[in-house]
Amino acid sequence: MKLVILGGGESGVGAARLGRKLGYEVFLSDKGRLAEKYRKVLVEEGFDFEEGCHTEGRILQADLAVKSPGIPDTAPIVVALRGKGVEVISEIEFAGRHSSAKYICITGSNGKTTTTLLTHHILVRAGVDVGLAGNVGRSLADQVAEEAHGLYVVELSSFQLDGMFRFRSDVAILTNITPDHLDRYGHKFENYVASKFRILNNMRPEDLFVYGCDSEAVTEYLKGVNPIPEQAAFTYREGVSGVAARMEGEQAVALLDGREFRVDREQISIRGRHNVYNAMGAILACMRMGLTDEQIAEGLRTFPQVEHRLETVAVKEGVTYINDSKATNVDSAWYALDSMATPVVWIAGGTDKGNDYSVLSDLVREKVKVLVCMGLDNRKLIRDFSPFCEVVDTDNLADAMRAARKYAEPGDTVLLSPCCASFDLFKNYEERGSLFKEAVNRL
Ligand code: ADP
Repeated sequence: MKLVILGGGESGVGAARLGRKLGYEVFLSDKGRLAEKYRKVLVEEGFDFEEGCHTEGRILQADLAVKSPGIPDTAPIVVALRGKGVEVISEIEFAGRHSSAKYICITGSNGKTTTTLLTHHILVRAGVDVGLAGNVGRSLADQVAEEAHGLYVVELSSFQLDGMFRFRSDVAILTNITPDHLDRYGHKFENYVASKFRILNNMRPEDLFVYGCDSEAVTEYLKGVNPIPEQAAFTYREGVSGVAARMEGEQAVALLDGREFRVDREQISIRGRHNVYNAMGAILACMRMGLTDEQIAEGLRTFPQVEHRLETVAVKEGVTYINDSKATNVDSAWYALDSMATPVVWIAGGTDKGNDYSVLSDLVREKVKVLVCMGLDNRKLIRDFSPFCEVVDTDNLADAMRAARKYAEPGDTVLLSPCCASFDLFKNYEERGSLFKEAVNRL
């Protein structure tokens, strides 16, 4: 049997290894250039592969194809494969077909990585043998091939979900849905929402669907479907009945499987309202896994900061510097500003994804002293925020840092939470965050 793998990143290389172990004749094809790390693995392990092109004649001989989530369903090679009747699936789907592990799967527009890492951390601290996979860490296929765990916590993007058909989650967490990636969904929000809800596919009545019910897109969609698994909604609001987790004063309270778990929000290591949501998702999943209250509380208390997500970098001359470079959309910047307890010098800007900034105006008026724009084209930011705060125009990190330092006074926070993608000035959000941290540490 011939297995073709499209895309030679983490998931593609993992799928190649698993495919070989299962006895497939594997061919990997990447239209772009492979990262050195993965090319080396493919060469050393003697895989048959190509880069810089897709040789159609060869690819179309496949019996099964695994495609990277980065390749859209509309790519000509995917269309050609499906046209020939070849099944094209994601790496998670492929791995899931060859493992009997249990899965806690996490999707949503924001909060996936944090919730995934937090859930994994709580389970690891409790001594559970659990793997971490999906968008974070090693690919699931690689782990299934090499060191199978009995349980995995898996972060799933909508692109991954689009390539999943028979996969079943034991616990599914949907954090929230806000507009993102609409270019891949025919510019239709409803297509993107439906893609996220694919996480429910194949779930059984005894499984658990955990979701953020303060997200309107989620509750609206749910009105039109009748999920088969047990439902556990979480909310930040107080006094709401019929939910599995909610706030009571400064405590988060979760009720599941006849048990109540309470935690002071101060005892959750990561700050901000959005992280209370993320914690609620993780708590409910861990309760379902049978962890004790002490184990859950211990994991919440000891969870380390996640890089580039509201990460405190340093305090310099009384000014706190925070790196939230992963805030690449308006909603995530909203939560960052919402969590600020001091006056803010806000660094934002980059590649605009069709942003509507109006939802930020109240928070900016209330908390932001100065907006330091950092992007090649800042006209929209300047236009939309000038009525609410002072705005400075810069087009590089060094100038942005100089401006931030000039305006920030002891007790203030300098927050990099860009609301935009990074591609105008940086390779990706990681590079943007890392260079910001270096600049802060040099101050
Ligand atoms: P994802 O993996 O879904 O992109 P992350 O956990 O990496 O999510 O967080 C991405 C950005 O969104 C960060 O800037 C973070 O501060 C913010 N964020 C995290 N959790 C949430 C949430 N539940 N709701 C809104 N924003 C969030």
